[in-house]
Amino acid sequence: MSDLLVELGTKGSEVILNLTNSSLEKLIPLKGKNQKVEFPETNYYLPLINGLLNLVVKTLEDCQVALKQATALSKSMPVASGINMGAGLGSVLNRGLATLICEEILATLAVFNKEHPQEGFLGFIPDKILRSLGLQLVDGRIAGIAVILGAAKDDDAAVDLIRNFQSKSIVSLLAGNIKGNSVKAQLERKGVELGLENYIVPLGADYLSVIYAVNFAVRAPLIYGGLKPGQWQGIAEYVRNRVPAFVLLLGHVDEVIVATGLGALAFGLPIITDLDVPQLGKIDTTLYEALVTEKDYKKIPSKCILARGIKVRLAEVAVPVPYAAAFEGERVRREQLHVEFGAKASLALEYLSSKGVDEVDDGSVELTGPDIDQLEKGSKSMPLAIVVDVYGRKMQKDFEPILERQIHRFVNYAMGIMHIGQRDMNWIRISKDAFSKGFRLKHLGVILHAMLHQEYNAIVDKVQVKLYTKKEDVVRISASVKEVFDQRDERISGMTDESVDTYYSCLLCQSFAPNHVCVVTPERLGLCGAYSWLDARASFEITPTGPNQPIKKGALIDERFGQWENVNEFVKQKSNKTIDKVSMYSLMDSPQSSCGCFECIVAIIPEANGVMIVHRDHSGMTPCGMTFTTLAGSVGGGVQTPGFLGVGKLYILSKKFISADGGLERVVWMPKELKEMLGDKLKNRAQEIGDASFVDKIADETIATTSEDLLIFLEKVKHPALTMPPMI
Ligand code: SF4
Ligand code: ZN
Repeated sequence: MSDLLVELGTKGSEVILNLTNSSLEKLIPLKGKNQKVEFPETNYYLPLINGLLNLVVKTLEDCQVALKQATALSKSMPVASGINMGAGLGSVLNRGLATLICEEILATLAVFNKEHPQEGFLGFIPDKILRSLGLQLVDGRIAGIAVILGAAKDDDAAVDLIRNFQSKSIVSLLAGNIKGNSVKAQLERKGVELGLENYIVPLGADYLSVIYAVNFAVRAPLIYGGLKPGQWQGIAEYVRNRVPAFVLLLGHVDEVIVATGLGALAFGLPIITDLDVPQLGKIDTTLYEALVTEKDYKKIPSKCILARGIKVRLAEVAVPVPYAAAFEGERVRREQLHVEFGAKASLALEYLSSKGVDEVDDGSVELTGPDIDQLEKGSKSMPLAIVVDVYGRKMQKDFEPILERQIHRFVNYAMGIMHIGQRDMNWIRISKDAFSKGFRLKHLGVILHAMLHQEYNAIVDKVQVKLYTKKEDVVRISASVKEVFDQRDERISGMTDESVDTYYSCLLCQSFAPNHVCVVTPERLGLCGAYSWLDARASFEITPTGPNQPIKKGALIDERFGQWENVNEFVKQKSNKTIDKVSMYSLMDSPQSSCGCFECIVAIIPEANGVMIVHRDHSGMTPCGMTFTTLAGSVGGGVQTPGFLGVGKLYILSKKFISADGGLERVVWMPKELKEMLGDKLKNRAQEIGDASFVDKIADETIATTSEDLLIFLEKVKHPALTMPPMI
């Protein structure tokens, strides 16, 4: 490494160590050393410090303990937790890590002083965001994470850069500013919509906020990887190998940024910059080049991707607007609206079915009725039916609804097009911007044709799309497909675990949680909520060597618990021998492991002889004395935790929901919002178990958030759990 970088980094780390020291020395006499400090909604305290040093920082005094270790580490002296990147280059990286540790302390002080989060910025990233992103990272919808510091050379360059990252499914985390100018400001001036759903997350206006990207990355090994605080080598290795992040430094550098960058290098995150700096080739911790200059903005994204070794799957779809997963969450607001279909605006539907080989003319897109440049004066809506016919040698009836559900995702990927809902409850909006770029209805067909081929080529050989915009046509088609929709529902709800001899695995999350195995059955979907048995089966047909493998159940070991010989054997092998047996229907005895992206957690409440369920979006306290975030910290990393279970929302409605432990009747508490989301289906299940009023016997946060209050309520409503056999 060049002397200049070492020199700057050394200076920078000293500046930060001194600043942290003086900040604490100023604050402690004012507030006392027991003053609490924290980040919001995390189970990992100050995650970087927790992970690297195995320290739990809750007070200013704890900050001092961490600072002491950072000081020792910066001099490569022995540290209690044993962390040390070695001599030579290692000693330089030690300084980098010490800098990051101090920055985490400074950031928590900034939170305490209400300086963070700054208005319009996210600041610290709560655990639940990482959990919600897990699936997108493993299935490739997020290909990488760009940590962007400073400001681009001008507004247009900033927009081009970010659009380029979006089109490659790379999430941008923004921090820092140059004399008040920042990428965030540049994007806002150009009217670019920010937010996680658009793959653009402004962390903070200052350079210190970059620490939120670091302590975000460090939680992945803790949440998904089964690594424990203090296992600093494993944590660093995990980030290096599994978190596809890099740093893009634009327009400005100083000694503190260099020191911070050294910390990033310690985690294997390469740095790409538009500045003249000494270059640095591959080092021990990085996969490829460590520090690269690229002044040509057009070439920056590909340099970043190369340096980090990111795999980008580019969709090739011939439409006049940018097309990528990053645009999936973008909304089209009323002011930007050119035309809309469905919801309250008009009658609309989408329908996909399989046809014979001669009935499908591959690539044909036919519009019957006016296009969106022939809207009636003053009107902003029209009826629309999207009818997709597919033929495939390996196509099956059961795959129709699965392919049809993809219409939502595929249409949404187009920038300026919004899609919500499905079937005859869909809602599509096309923005003025997309319209003026030349987007017309036939492009919906172009998208569906291209994407169905691209993602489902194993089962789809031909695709044609027919679009109808005349009311009489849409009314006619709507009437004829209603029955099919009902039949599909019946088929799925009629399927039981007994009716099949094969379950499917899902190993998708192993790229994050290497020992985690989901076993997906007709009556129990994957815990992320995204994979039903039919989905897993289709996915196996599409990619026979993929993450969804058939598991022939084999000999039954225990009917009540739901254990089969082959399932156990499969899980044992694929969990790298960490799990011997798994019960499909029990929370208490050998439950399934969790990776981290569960929609809900089921947890035992021993006093109530029952269980509570909490979903990811509920931030309040629960009667087991923990919030979702805290609970989630003890469920995950691919380990079995009897008494706790990560589940997909729909599993709650299944007849096999913890049936070995008593089933739905064990449920004593769930948030109101979750009850509402399950709605009539939950009421129907209550009827099925013979207690139509059962839903009202389940407490929620308006009734109880402590186990004492919960018990009073349960006694009052005579909740069945109280008289059921003991759970433990
Ligand atoms: Fe991950 Fe399980 Fe969902 Fe597959 S089904 S993506 S393994 S949580
Ligand atoms: Zn997962």
